[in-house]
Amino acid sequence: MDTLIKLLVQARLDPERIIPRAVMARYTTFHIGGPADVLVNIASASELPPVLRAAKLAGAPVTLIGNGSNVLVRDGGIRGLVIRIDGSMAAIRREGDTLHVQAGALMRTAANFAMNEGLSGLEEIAGIPGTIGGGVIMNAGAYGGELSQVVTRVDAIALSDGKPVSFEGDALGFSYRHSAMMDAGVIITGVTMQLRPGDPAQIKARMDELAKARREKQPLEYPSAGSTFKRPEGYFAAKLIDDCGLRGLSVGDAQVSEKHAGFVINRGSARASDVLELMQQIRTRVFETYGVELEPEIRILGEDAH
Ligand SMILES: Cc1cc2nc3c(=O)[nH]c(=O)nc-3n(C[C@H](O)[C@H](O)[C@H](O)COP(=O)(O)OP(=O)(O)OC[C@H]3O[C@@H](n4cnc5c(N)ncnc54)[C@H](O)[C@@H]3O)c2cc1C
Repeated sequence: MDTLIKLLVQARLDPERIIPRAVMARYTTFHIGGPADVLVNIASASELPPVLRAAKLAGAPVTLIGNGSNVLVRDGGIRGLVIRIDGSMAAIRREGDTLHVQAGALMRTAANFAMNEGLSGLEEIAGIPGTIGGGVIMNAGAYGGELSQVVTRVDAIALSDGKPVSFEGDALGFSYRHSAMMDAGVIITGVTMQLRPGDPAQIKARMDELAKARREKQPLEYPSAGSTFKRPEGYFAAKLIDDCGLRGLSVGDAQVSEKHAGFVINRGSARASDVLELMQQIRTRVFETYGVELEPEIRILGEDAH
């Protein structure tokens, strides 16, 4: 990995943003995960082509994360380079009723910005932890709102060759927890959103109401990565898990939340292997009982501990 670090420094990346043996538990909301060989925090889209070139020259595989709120990193960590797009690249600019948001801005920050500007459209996504880039790539949504409803353009960099690419209109290809950008293999750098004028007090009231609903229903007092499984066609994953009597089931410190059976929580020192074993037990029980195959919603990254 010394070669990779040397190449990243040569690419004029600020050495303070190059982190060798970065413990991924620090970069994920699950607070789980072994070390990445090297992690870089990106401050501008222009850094991405040289960083990708450096990784290619060093033969290092590239993994991308934002706020780490939808990922489970295995205990052995991640080989190669982790590119992190977060608060270092998070500027937000208004132009009429349009917002231009850099990919590392948190959804909450963008929603608060819109509220203060009297712009409506982000109230439902305000409570989703994560960056705009991480949200858009998987069309994050909640309470009837979805990023697809407001996003009009996405600017990105292709992972394959570092070239800029943009998506507009139908080319965005949004569907449930999916987008065309996901299939295209890109790093989202900026997102344009069309909002509509609204009364800041009403926008705030809606955001407060939804935040309260989340606090009441979701185990926000424990680390997690949100809903563990996707919603299977015609069912709700949490209800299936609950109906199988799995609320509270534990492996080590990983537990099916007592408060919301759709969440696996980390009660303190859960390992990725505990979460994966628990997920397997849940899938087996749900399949045996209802014949429904649960698909993970969370992204599982990295390798097992040896
Ligand atoms: C308590 C809790 C509640 C949640 N509630 C919801 C909810 O209501 N609705 C919902 O949809 N999700 C929810 N989530 C899941 C999560 O917040 C979303 O999936 C969020 O969009 C992830 O963004 P992130 O920046 O954390 O992405 P990460 O978890 O860091 O990454 C997730 C995926 O996105 C990719 N990615 C990240 N940034 C970029 C980028 N700039 N360009 C391209 N790809 C990128 C990564 O490669 C990875 O594959 C919840 C999570 C938690 C912990």
